[in-house]
Amino acid sequence: MNPTTKQLDDTYVAHTYARFPVELTRGSGSVLTDPDGREYIDLGTGIGVNAFGLADPEWVRAVTEQAARLPHTSNLYYTEPCARLAELLCRRTGMRRVFFGNSGAEANECAIKAARKYSAAVKGADHFTIVTLWNSFHGRTLTTLSATGQEHYHELYQPLTPGFVHVHAEDIDELRRVAREAKAAGVLLECVQGEGGVVVLSREYVRAVAAFCAEENIPLMVDEVQTGNGRTGALYAYMNYGITPDIVSTAKGLGGGLPLGACLLGEKLADVFAPGDHGSTFGGNPICCAGALSILSRIDDALLASVREKGEYLLRAFAGAPGVQDVRGLGLMVGILPVRPAGEVVSDCLSNGVLCLTAKDRIRLLPALTIPMDKLEQAVSVLLAALRA
Ligand code: PLP
Repeated sequence: MNPTTKQLDDTYVAHTYARFPVELTRGSGSVLTDPDGREYIDLGTGIGVNAFGLADPEWVRAVTEQAARLPHTSNLYYTEPCARLAELLCRRTGMRRVFFGNSGAEANECAIKAARKYSAAVKGADHFTIVTLWNSFHGRTLTTLSATGQEHYHELYQPLTPGFVHVHAEDIDELRRVAREAKAAGVLLECVQGEGGVVVLSREYVRAVAAFCAEENIPLMVDEVQTGNGRTGALYAYMNYGITPDIVSTAKGLGGGLPLGACLLGEKLADVFAPGDHGSTFGGNPICCAGALSILSRIDDALLASVREKGEYLLRAFAGAPGVQDVRGLGLMVGILPVRPAGEVVSDCLSNGVLCLTAKDRIRLLPALTIPMDKLEQAVSVLLAALRA
């Protein structure tokens, strides 16, 4: 008998993931299928990646055409999808230049390098410390892990990269004091802390941080890896707050299902890098960029309005429902605090054909921006039943 996928995976793949006991073989829109043809409604989108659902026809066309024409060249040569995507990102954000990598962590690595290089040049080499928030998540590389303000991620990997300090969200006085004392090279924050349990930062706090950074000429870096590309009902979450960051890092939904990270540099840091300062073999890969162009060019005002409407529908559906202690979120990024342990509710949903995520003690929903309303309603009724069980 041939080994099952699960047996092979358990034997040969490093045990870094606690996988659900499900194999997925196909996906279309917001529906995934297992080998027996069982269907699941997808409220997780591969952790916020499949922005237009699975195998979105326009995205498939863009990536397959590019794969057949020119899949990879390295960054030694010019390629059109990379240049066009950078142009579109800049036009839609007002940022000035883009560095492409392969993941959110790599986008944040670039952001950190850019801030350090800028601040060292402008203020001196002792300005290297980056201020981030407790409860944040910025990635799994050693440096982005060091940026992450959650100590349990740090325990196994000492010593961490030096030069990071963490402050409590919503305490602007602490941030001002710590940033000054630390001679901050940058402040890095998520407007909505995703892995931290879908914590939506207040408008007052985010605007106060932005004003402080502007006064002190400290680069403000916004991590839009999870919140970006339409997820919160604005193209980037910072746009909900009326601020202009100096650096924006993004990934996940941008590639629409292929690995792509981007670090957007604003006016102040547009020319921070010179040739040789930073790089990535696959960064700006033509297939990933062609897919991203098809995604980004379709995130328009109408789609963003529908993301906001569906997000409000989710908040209404769960607020005060039996088995729900609290619900919060922005756009299609929603965190539900259940009475039962979140993991149990998510397992029951899986048994009943709905895939959702957890974040801390919450159930986290990150459906496709384009999820059809009937599928969303169907999934909500499964979730409501699991919550009140
Ligand atoms: N930053 C944030 C806010 C994230 O949510 C994540 C991943 O969940 C990352 C960075 C790391 O992204 P990646 O896993 O693509 O490296």
